[in-house]
Amino acid sequence: MVMNPILWPLRTGLRFIRDIDGLFSYFSFKLFPKTYVIEGACQKRGICCQNIAICLSPSFWKHSWLKRLAQRYYTFVYNFQHIEDLEEHKVIKFKCNYLKEGKCSIYRRRPFICRQYPALQYFQKPEILPGCGYRIVAKNKK
Ligand code: SF4
Repeated sequence: MVMNPILWPLRTGLRFIRDIDGLFSYFSFKLFPKTYVIEGACQKRGICCQNIAICLSPSFWKHSWLKRLAQRYYTFVYNFQHIEDLEEHKVIKFKCNYLKEGKCSIYRRRPFICRQYPALQYFQKPEILPGCGYRIVAKNKK
């Protein structure tokens, strides 16, 4: 699909900012001690790419325009497709349009959000999607 010549530089600029932000998150994440560890391996089933859960803070849910803005941001910058809102979990769910025949079509330049999956969270037990090849184990149980 050919993109509008005005939108293309805008998307490229926003992706650059997104990647800088991803890089900072990656390094700041390394500073915190972890309660859990990740075991297993990717089974290349594309489950994570079809069930992308973006968690938004409560203020996004209080103001619907803010939530819509976040939704448009992920649609435009990440090329995700909105599936549904899971308000009880404060999550917007997407699938990725770069997933082609079960594989990532931009694998080498995929964003940090994909490179870090499954991400260990700082303060709560992370969740793994059913069918995923990874599992989360408490550190002291190893
Ligand atoms: S960019 Fe690639 S790895 Fe990331 S969600 Fe899309 S298909 Fe999956």
